[in-house]
Amino acid sequence: MTKDRTVSILGVNFIHINLRQMIDRLMEHVKNEEKKFVVTANPEIVLHTLEDETYKKNVEKADYVTADGIGVVKAAQMLGQPLPERVTGFDMFMGILEKANEQGSSVYLLGAKDEVLQKTKQNMNKQFPNVEIAGSHHGFFDWEDDAIIRDIQETKPDFIFVALGFPRQEQWIAENMPYAEKGIFVGIGGSFDVLAGEVKRAPEIWQKLNLEWFYRLSKQPTRWKRMLALPRFVGKVMYQKVKGSK
Ligand code: UDP
Repeated sequence: MTKDRTVSILGVNFIHINLRQMIDRLMEHVKNEEKKFVVTANPEIVLHTLEDETYKKNVEKADYVTADGIGVVKAAQMLGQPLPERVTGFDMFMGILEKANEQGSSVYLLGAKDEVLQKTKQNMNKQFPNVEIAGSHHGFFDWEDDAIIRDIQETKPDFIFVALGFPRQEQWIAENMPYAEKGIFVGIGGSFDVLAGEVKRAPEIWQKLNLEWFYRLSKQPTRWKRMLALPRFVGKVMYQKVKGSK
């Protein structure tokens, strides 16, 4: 197998691929009953790898790291190694469910508050009736308890969507994936909240203008602190560019 082209941003290797190709690739892995780990990384995740060595190691275990958001796409552009487009956790979640619906694949859902998870399952059943929900668990559990991974070992889902937010989701996957026989493990942040209708996605026009982050900020002003990660991220990327060109 040829090695995938990647772009290194602050030491995180992003796959050079578009959303459609990424989803097709994952469906191919499902067909072959393989086991894969996908990280959908935004600027906050990249910055966190610089601050937490254990987290960095967890992210390095991923088979694919995709560009979750315009911040990463812009950074790659700044470095003169553009990535094709955003490959976000939520878009991948929806794209996979569409394909899974066509092929009757099975999924396991881990994360979010129990009532959000129940709504996620209801909406999933409505929108993607052929997707088999192999099992699910809310995201507030005892980490010492191995009931979730035992459930996954028994039900052998094709996809395991882990929506615990970072860094928890990558840590959970890195620690538990070795015990599963197969399955595509994807960390997808707050995506269950969106499918459940708890959090609204920005209207398409905002997304097209690359202003989704601004829309989210206007809806959830408490996110402003997290937004501070962006200028810090840009500063560090500029430094990487300067250093790299010497
Ligand atoms: N969450 C969870 N367990 C926890 C903490 C958070 O399941 O211990 C869920 C939370 O309910 C939400 C999702 O993780 O559905 C994403 O949370 P957050 O917005 O903090 O993460 P981000 O979207 O920034 O990755």
